[in-house]
Amino acid sequence: MARPRLAVFKFASCDGCQLTLLDCEDELLAIGEKVDIVHFLEASDRAESGPYDIALVEGSITTAHDAERIQEVRRQTKFLVTIGACATSGGIQALRNWGDHADFLRAVYASPQYIDSLATSTAIAEHVPVDFELRGCPIDKRQLIEVIRSLATGRRPRTPSHSVCLDCKLRGNVCITVAQGVPCLGPVTQSGCGAICPAYDRGCYGCFGPAAQPNVVSLTTQFQRAGTAVPELVRGLRLFNAAAPEFRRESDRLDSSVERQP
Ligand code: SF4
Ligand code: SF4
Ligand code: SF4
Repeated sequence: MARPRLAVFKFASCDGCQLTLLDCEDELLAIGEKVDIVHFLEASDRAESGPYDIALVEGSITTAHDAERIQEVRRQTKFLVTIGACATSGGIQALRNWGDHADFLRAVYASPQYIDSLATSTAIAEHVPVDFELRGCPIDKRQLIEVIRSLATGRRPRTPSHSVCLDCKLRGNVCITVAQGVPCLGPVTQSGCGAICPAYDRGCYGCFGPAAQPNVVSLTTQFQRAGTAVPELVRGLRLFNAAAPEFRRESDRLDSSVERQP
């Protein structure tokens, strides 16, 4: 039986999630036996045209050209997987969604008239149907391998949707919010990293995006009661997954509550 044809595509991103695939090293040979990687410009000049069985899509949509290109990728692909915070929520570049795009262009480029970009950075799912989303900035290698292996063998990938807090407990971390009063987005952030930041006494800043059914309002209310200033909470929510709907809604609500204060 022919191996499934796998393609990797890049949109606006830092390439870090594609590097996670290269970082698979030992596993890459085994993956190569299960799928035929026919388009992966980060690793090879092999760039075959579609149709593809699986496409891994990294990056967000930030230009009109990319908005057209993703439609073509979707047309050519049976199972489309978005990888990373850029592709699943617009990424850190979605911070421009709250600012003045023209101001940014003037500040960054000596000749902004040559730049042709959209005023927003948006997730792939806002443009085309997506079959599976893999979170993280960058994605987790074990989760990526699970996705490729499962799709190559015709089953749906299984990745956890519980919060970082559960992993934190399993790891035996002392909760830094309870013990030290450090604000931590772990209760509303999806598992994937093994709770690495709290293990080193840092609050989680949500790089794996919202967990399933997160109660973000309740968490920020608790942090406010404990003395965390609203702008700090807004900054916490507006980071790698700022445009994820659950984080965006709450950061907007908090932001407007500050604006309303006399
Ligand atoms: S999600 Fe993070 S690591 Fe992945 S491409 Fe975007 S910025 Fe880079
Ligand atoms: S440190 Fe953060 S992730 Fe860990 S248990 Fe406390 S709130 Fe949850
Ligand atoms: S920010 Fe949160 S989700 Fe990201 S690596 Fe740290 S603990 Fe994990």
